[in-house]
Amino acid sequence: MKIAIIALQGAFTEHADILKKATAELNINCNIVLAKSKQDLQNASGIIIPGGESTTINKLLKETGMDEKIKELAKQNIPILATCAGMIIISNTGDTQCKKTGKLLGLLNMEVNRNAFGTQKDSFEKELEIKGIGKVNAVFIRAPAITKINDSTIEILAKTNNKIVAVKKNNIIALAFHPELTEDTKIHKYFLESIHRKVI
Ligand code: GLN
Repeated sequence: MKIAIIALQGAFTEHADILKKATAELNINCNIVLAKSKQDLQNASGIIIPGGESTTINKLLKETGMDEKIKELAKQNIPILATCAGMIIISNTGDTQCKKTGKLLGLLNMEVNRNAFGTQKDSFEKELEIKGIGKVNAVFIRAPAITKINDSTIEILAKTNNKIVAVKKNNIIALAFHPELTEDTKIHKYFLESIHRKVI
């Protein structure tokens, strides 16, 4: 089983660390690749798109042709975990700030507000109950939120301050926060289990 973490900018190392911890806890053998080119995405059984700076990640995805490869893998129902900037990137469109990010991948037909909770200094942590996953301590850093869902098959997994911050559609999970910045492996285990169900 190969999991590709998009490693162009942002919190990819942190995702790799927590993913290693989760694979060890589940006793799963997994090849974790820090993907910097579309070749690195070849035969991936799961993809993580991390948080960071959405304009930069989006631009680099286009330059490397990884955007098209991710879309192709999403069509094959390969599990994808997109967090924070990653969530913005897989959305369809959003607010004016979001439009500066450039054309988004549109894997989930929904709209986002790019800095829905304010600036860096408005970052916060909050315990959230995520449907199907359980309680997690969610870290929000210049976090986006989902403002409109245009697809009835997108399921809301969590809200906070009246804003949608976690959704799922088939094998795609999008989170407004950073699950890689705590020691809790629940979310990565959930993601690994969705890959495992598909691979076996
Ligand atoms: N709001 C940021 C952006 O638009 C994302 C923040 C994050 O990933 N921590 O790029």
